[in-house]
Amino acid sequence: MNVILLGPPGCGKGTQGAILATRLQTTRIATGDLLRAAVQAETDLGQQAQSFMDKGLLVPDEVILGLIMEVLNEPQAQNGVIMDGFPRTVAQAEAVAQLLASRGHAVDRVLTFEVPDDELVRRMQGRAAQEGRSDDTRDAFQKRLDVYQEQTAPLVEFYERQNLNVRISGMGTMDEVSTRVQEALDG
Ligand code: ADP
Repeated sequence: MNVILLGPPGCGKGTQGAILATRLQTTRIATGDLLRAAVQAETDLGQQAQSFMDKGLLVPDEVILGLIMEVLNEPQAQNGVIMDGFPRTVAQAEAVAQLLASRGHAVDRVLTFEVPDDELVRRMQGRAAQEGRSDDTRDAFQKRLDVYQEQTAPLVEFYERQNLNVRISGMGTMDEVSTRVQEALDG
């Protein structure tokens, strides 16, 4: 099963993606995690990505697509993947459709997590204190919210037109949200 998790920064898709990956025994591809690992390891790709990430901007599509292709080619990705933080632009969505189709697969379900902005900002502030991510500053976070609205939110309609999208409230406890995820995938 190939599942895409959509939603603004701080909506909880990372947490739910990890729970889902365990439950479905499926590989989770989190582009944000892959990029942070590349930055940490000081690879060429990491160096290209870092300045975009720190400003809250999207990393260019070509960089992301190179990263994704590598992961999709791994044997454990052949049974399906949970995509968390990818695609984030229409160009990325079109690319993922093609990449899957060339392997005889397709996107099976898209889950969009909805959380109001004031709650997203509250969550970011809590996480910033714990994790110290360089893009969890107030300015970079606001930029990430704006970039989500401009470049990623159009994907909700893109997938609604294909009848693939299910909207889920990301409010409530982790267990409550996880139950909604399960229902959305069963339904
Ligand atoms: P969040 O969803 O909380 O913003 P992520 O860890 O998913 O966090 O992403 C962090 C940053 O990594 C983004 O702000 C962006 O710069 C970069 N990034 C992650 N995924 C992508 C992607 N698919 N396309 C472009 N940039 C990405």
